[in-house]
This record gives sequence, C-alpha cells and structure tokens, in this order.
Amino acid sequence: MRVLVASSEMVPFAKTGGLADVIGALPAAMAKQGSEVKTFIPLYDPAALKDHTVHSTGLDLKVSVNGTQKSFTVDYIKAKRLPLEYCFIDNGDYFKRLQLYRDERTGSDYTDNDMRFAFFARAVLEAVKGMGWKPDIIHVHDWQAAMIPVYLKTLYAEDPFFANVRTVLTIHNLAYQGTFDGERFEKLDLPEKLFFPTSPFEFYGKVNFLKAAIEHSDRITTVSERYAEEIQTDEHGCGLQGVLQRRTSDISGILNGVDYTIWSPSRDKKIPYNYYAANLSGKKMNKIELLGKAGLPVREKTPLVGIISRLADQKGFDLIAEIADEIFQMDLQMIVLGTGEEKYHQLFEELQQKFPDKLKVYLAFDDSLAHWIEAAADMFLMPSHYEPCGLNQMYSLKYGTVPLVREVGGLADTVDDYNPRTGEGTGFVFSEYTSQALREAIERAVSLYPRRRPWTKIMKAGMRQDFSWDKAAWKYLRLFEELIRD
Ligand code: ADP
Repeated sequence: MRVLVASSEMVPFAKTGGLADVIGALPAAMAKQGSEVKTFIPLYDPAALKDHTVHSTGLDLKVSVNGTQKSFTVDYIKAKRLPLEYCFIDNGDYFKRLQLYRDERTGSDYTDNDMRFAFFARAVLEAVKGMGWKPDIIHVHDWQAAMIPVYLKTLYAEDPFFANVRTVLTIHNLAYQGTFDGERFEKLDLPEKLFFPTSPFEFYGKVNFLKAAIEHSDRITTVSERYAEEIQTDEHGCGLQGVLQRRTSDISGILNGVDYTIWSPSRDKKIPYNYYAANLSGKKMNKIELLGKAGLPVREKTPLVGIISRLADQKGFDLIAEIADEIFQMDLQMIVLGTGEEKYHQLFEELQQKFPDKLKVYLAFDDSLAHWIEAAADMFLMPSHYEPCGLNQMYSLKYGTVPLVREVGGLADTVDDYNPRTGEGTGFVFSEYTSQALREAIERAVSLYPRRRPWTKIMKAGMRQDFSWDKAAWKYLRLFEELIRD
C-alpha cells in the first residue's frame, strides 16, 4: 500500500508540539509493516536537514495561489532500510521564517497562514504528480494539511492521476481549526458554492479549513478513543460537534504511540544517568543533579513534581492557579518547563518568588531539559481541561514518573487510577474539572509517596506499559485497507 502523509511538523525537522512527535514516528512504523510511505512537510529551515543526505527530485513546479504563480522545489531524504522518504516542499517566501505559525514581532499568527497552507496542499498534490508516485491513501494531519482532501475533491476531482485515492484526516486537537476572515475565501481558488451558510467551509461567517476537511475526507480519526467520543459532544466539540455527529460512522480513535527509541530511560542519550525498572538508582541521581542545577535543596523524602507543557488554558493551569498556595504548603517540590500564555508565565514566576525552595520555573522550549525532567521527577502533573491524546503522561509512565492526570481524552485512556485496596494502578486520576478534585488527587499522591513499597509498585506498573507505535500503525493500516476495499 502506498501512503502519503502530509503535516506541517515532524520530528526531527520542525516541532512546536505533539503533532511533530507523531509524524516523526508513525510513518516509520507503517513502513516497517510493509507500506511504501512518503511524508511531506514544508521546508522551514534548511539547517534542519544538515545531518542528512538530501536528494533533489529535480522538480521545479508552480501552483497558483490567489491568482499568482508560486514556485517550489521538492527535496527528500531516504530513511535507512525502510520504504520511506521524507519530502520537503521548498518555497522561501512562505516557509523560511523564524517561527512556524507565529510572527515573533507581533506575537500573532502570520496574516497569510491561509495562503501558506493552501499553497502547501496544492504543492503536495503537484509534487506527487510530478514524481509519478500515486498514493492509495493520503493521510493528512490537522488544519495545516486539511486543504489536501478539499482540493482533491474539487480542483482535482476529474484528474485521472488521483482517481480512487482515499483520504484520511487525523485531528490532533480540535481547538485549532484554521479559521480566517470570510472575504479571504476567494483567494483559495475554490468554487463559490463551498462558501455560503451551512456549506463545507463556512463557519459563522469565517472560512474554516478543518471543517472543510471533515466534510471532504473519506475517514476521520482522532488520537484516542475517548477523544473520538468527546469531540462529538457540546462540551468538547469546539462548535464542530454537529458536523462531526453527521459523520459519526466514519470517525474513530487510534491512540498515539511513543517512540521508545527516543523516550526510554534505559537508552535516553539526553539524561545524565540511564536506569531500568530493575535498578532505579539512576533515577535518583538524575533527581539529585537536576535539583542542584535548579538551585532547589535536595530533600530525599520530598517528591519532585514535573510539568512540561505548552502554558495554555487547555492544560488546566487555571486549576493550579486557584490552589497554588495550598499546593506549595504540601511537602513537595516542583520543576516547570514551558512557554505560552503570558498570564501563566507571570503566575509561575510569582510562585517561584514566593516559594523559592519549592519551585523552579524554566520559561523555555528545551527538549533536552524535557528528557531530564521526565527522568528526574517522581510525579508528572497534567490536569488538562481537555487532552486529545497527550504524550507526556505516556513518557512519564515509561520513566517511572507517576502521572497525576485528569480523566479526559487520551489521559483517561492511558492512566489507571491507583486503588489503595488492591495496590493496582499506574497513576492518580481525578474526574471533575475543579481545583478541589485536583487538590485531593495531589494530596493522595503526596501522602503515598513516602511509602516506598506501594509507590515503587505504581512506578513499575507504569514502566511495563507498552504504547509502542507498532500497535497504532497496525490499526491505521487496517483502516486504510478497509477504505481501499470499500
Ligand atoms: P501538545 O501537543 O498539546 O502540546 P502533547 O503532550 O501531545 O501536548 O505533546 C507535547 C510535546 O511537546 C511533548 O513531546 C513535550 O515533551 C513537548 N514539549 C512541550 N512543551 C515543551 C517545552 N517547553 N520544552 C520541551 N518540550 C516541550
């Protein structure tokens, strides 16, 4: 089976969040199971390719965007020993910018994001045509790649090259939909009938890329089973619940995996001390050194809580804010790594000043430090309001860093609440989105921590969990096969 994967991010070339981790791992897992896979992302920064042998397709193509011809070239990297190629759409105007989506000077999204990703979609379609490589399945991720199924079913509907090509849209986070002012629709070179009230693109007078893709893709998946249900409800549907409910029989959830070649404490190259479930002494050393680096006192019997996150409302920081004083009166220390909304930068900076021997905050994006925190912390806090899948709680399980999460989305599907009667469980789970429920869960965890035996049992139960990509890839490929047969 030939699978084209299109996304705006991919580890190790460009990353702002979990989407990049997924695209860095899933295509390889699909290729390992015998599919021929090509990934496409925009080329933002040529330096990202410097450690690889880059081949040119020799293609020098143009697509029309808003009536002007935009040219691009296509380079690619071959994966070792797998039928897998990483292809890059190279157009300097649109993609060689400091950040992926946001203008650093204004702090707002680039004003031409609609044009950039509409261009990307058409460029991908023209690229595979130019390469003479016809996919069976086009698997697109999030709103940035969402225009591919739309163009395929409109501008390219009569193109024999794409006859019988099936499309799958994976939604990694329904809150990000790619919405733009209504008058920008005419710049997309699409039939007007797609933009009138209740038509595929129209969303309260705006253009909505994700909505259009939901209407134009053959199947829709999300990144956990729980989230697949949640997005069809008023609470989590972000205004698209009606559109999604109409397609309910075509929606399914496939839990993301973890790339254990990158995220395993036994072979992680980014942590000072490797360790195993059978010998956890390295974990303790990682903690002692990290506390030293952070300037926090080493208190052996005090649990260290880690947070690595975008500092966004989604992640439940308002709950932490409500009970911050109570949290820091408990016997715990905390290290926070994150960037995002200014109000949360301020919150954590103020708390750091107030509790200097309990809290260290790094307002940065730092992948190596993220690994170290995972390896050093005793608990990982993720009280999300919603969480399509979440990766850090799965990394935490592998690192023996007991997750404390809210029962929502992928968090609900991956962490089992500790049961003191049976001693079973892999973490601490609370349901209600209230600061009281959060406080109770933290209290439960902090009071159990000094009891080494049950605590170690929880750690080891987590370390045994297997969320490998092989499972997820297998499920995607079965879905693709079914779709081709239909
Ligand atoms: P989301 O995609 O909603 O941001 P996920 O948990 O699915 O959340 O994925 C987040 C990914 O980004 C993880 O790999 C996490 O380690 C990483 N990450 C988030 N913030 C930072 C940061 N400040 N520094 C380093 N890595 C981060």
